[in-house]
Amino acid sequence: MNRRERVAGAIVGSAVGDALGAPFEFGPAGMFSASDGGGEMRGGGGWDPGEATDDTQMAIQVAESLLERGGLDPADIFARFQRWAADDPKDIGLQTEDVLTRGLPWDQAAAAHYRTTHRAAGNGSLMRATTAAVHFAPEGRQTTVDAARRISALTHGDPAAGEGVAIFHDLLRTALTGAHPLEDLTETLAAVHPDHRGRYATVTSPTWHPDDATEFNGAVWPCLGSAVWALRTTGNYEEALRAAIDLGGDTDTVAAVTGALAGAVHGLSAIPARWTDPLHVPLPGSGGRVLRLPQLLNLAEALARGDVPPHRAGPGSAIRGAGSPLWSDR
Ligand SMILES: [Mg+2]
Repeated sequence: MNRRERVAGAIVGSAVGDALGAPFEFGPAGMFSASDGGGEMRGGGGWDPGEATDDTQMAIQVAESLLERGGLDPADIFARFQRWAADDPKDIGLQTEDVLTRGLPWDQAAAAHYRTTHRAAGNGSLMRATTAAVHFAPEGRQTTVDAARRISALTHGDPAAGEGVAIFHDLLRTALTGAHPLEDLTETLAAVHPDHRGRYATVTSPTWHPDDATEFNGAVWPCLGSAVWALRTTGNYEEALRAAIDLGGDTDTVAAVTGALAGAVHGLSAIPARWTDPLHVPLPGSGGRVLRLPQLLNLAEALARGDVPPHRAGPGSAIRGAGSPLWSDR
């Protein structure tokens, strides 16, 4: 399997996980497999079948900023998040909404929120991390974990959130090389700030189970730990996603994180067409654009290459996407 197949697997795999888990958000464990149709793509909870939520919508904002600005421009990402939040997305994290609508500058809003609440270690900056993780992966561990922390800090002032996103970036970086991301876990954890390393070592340990979590999986530690557990204890993309969503709780986000890792490990071809066919990503704040599989594949290609975004070609881009080199590789 080549790197492009893994990159596409990560981008599409995360979006599929988000859409697959969305109808079951805040539900009990086992609800996904027990639902009508048994563990398949369906609508519910206000979501259409295949509709991606804020997790993927924000990941696309980050991707388009990276591509159009030619690199990391935190002020630009923050402004895109604000335009998105102002256009009434169906879902938005409470903390993210508070930070984006405070009217404070990009480099002060999240810190101000953290100073007043001291509760900012939600999984809301982890859920949107796949596109940046793909983009920065070729630049090596130090660059990608640094970018992870800076993008996380735009909405999440708690360094614990940033360290979790940093781990995710490095796991995805490893997976895109073709190595198994959990084989290199000791080195990944060595890149974590010492104040936070122990807690992340616990939730990523082979002996940890999601039932051992001390917080709801809307928090960053059990969310990342659950995704690692789902990847480690399953043999393919579908099994990993079912395991993740059947945990219940913040199902769309746990599945978005799991889907990125499992998609990178198992590749695009491991993601069933019956899950990618209905997949669509509405983009509030963008004049009604909706991305589907061909546009997501073009985005994945552009992120991996670091060039201008061909997925924004407008009407007809689906046809261009169908003829893209990646598409014909399948
Ligand atoms: Mg969501």
